[in-house]
Amino acid sequence: MIDLSSDTATRPTAAMRSAMANAEVGDEQRGEDPTVRALEERVADLTGMEAAVFMPSGTMCNIVALFVHCDAGDEVILHTHSHLRYSENGGPAVHSRVLLNAISHGADGTFTGEQVIARLQPAGHQKPRSRLVVVENTNNRGGGSAWPVSRLEDVTATARRAGLRTHLDGARLMNAAVALGIDPARLCSGFDSCWVDLTKGLGCPVGAVLAGSASFIAEARWAKHLFGGAMRQAGIIAAAGLYALDHHIERLADDHAAARLLADGLADMPGVVLAQERVDTNIVYFDVGPSGLRAEDVVGRCVGDGVRFGHLHGTVLRAVTHLDVTIDQVGAARRALRRALGEPV
Ligand SMILES: *Cc1c(COP(=O)(O)O)cnc(C)c1O
Repeated sequence: MIDLSSDTATRPTAAMRSAMANAEVGDEQRGEDPTVRALEERVADLTGMEAAVFMPSGTMCNIVALFVHCDAGDEVILHTHSHLRYSENGGPAVHSRVLLNAISHGADGTFTGEQVIARLQPAGHQKPRSRLVVVENTNNRGGGSAWPVSRLEDVTATARRAGLRTHLDGARLMNAAVALGIDPARLCSGFDSCWVDLTKGLGCPVGAVLAGSASFIAEARWAKHLFGGAMRQAGIIAAAGLYALDHHIERLADDHAAARLLADGLADMPGVVLAQERVDTNIVYFDVGPSGLRAEDVVGRCVGDGVRFGHLHGTVLRAVTHLDVTIDQVGAARRALRRALGEPV
């Protein structure tokens, strides 16, 4: 099966498994796992932050960051295309008891400082407190869009002036850094906290790393234990993260080229249109509406043909390129899609 449903579909490579098998380990919960500590230092360095903490998942990075930054009843400003809003089971309301104030301009999931200001609650005894701005880079639902640096800096500087804290959902931060050719630390500067997922394009089986100031990370460690995320001999999975940071970053450019190839192939395919303005990284949304078919029918036909696409809603499908999909397989996926749409191959 050529699995383009998500970049979480990767399996650890033989070399990654060997790094995992040979990892030095200790009790992570007591701060005694040397491999976890090495990974945390590495990500603090990578993001230009003072400190970092290894987490079981990206979702937990978001949970903990909101919990540390906000008090109950505070408002979080973010784009409507935010994983935090549509894919985390209502976690912000459950764990942190915050309100979400969503910006809906801009199909690519990016926004401006001015749009943040427009969302601020006026001071008053009847108003919730505006507390935090969340940026997702790359923006998943926005088509894997990489935020232009000027836009990021506008948002973080505006938020700071307005007395708001800032959090970066960097599930695919490294895709953004590679696509833009920019140091990831530059993409994180201006944020109070940020995180990187190890299980998306980086190809690890488990884990994400949350970074920020030393005092923020001390609080985050406390909250990690509160939410049951403290681990024991976690070096066995942290080793995969260290391996990925050494070997799987530069190759993200191949995933981006594969995604563009796929998108280019859609341009001359009747019955389907690209459902995003541009392909910055490894995510391609496309709409089979013009073919008269439903997305689930197209997904089903392609699965029968050995190719798995994701189904967003209605007539929209998603393809995500990653470590386990070669450029030849992207060609095969394109042919399977043509057959599913009843087009000659
Ligand atoms: C996948 C993802 C998450 C959640 O990460 P998990 O490691 O799956 O828990 C959060 N934000 C974005 C943008 C994601 O793509």
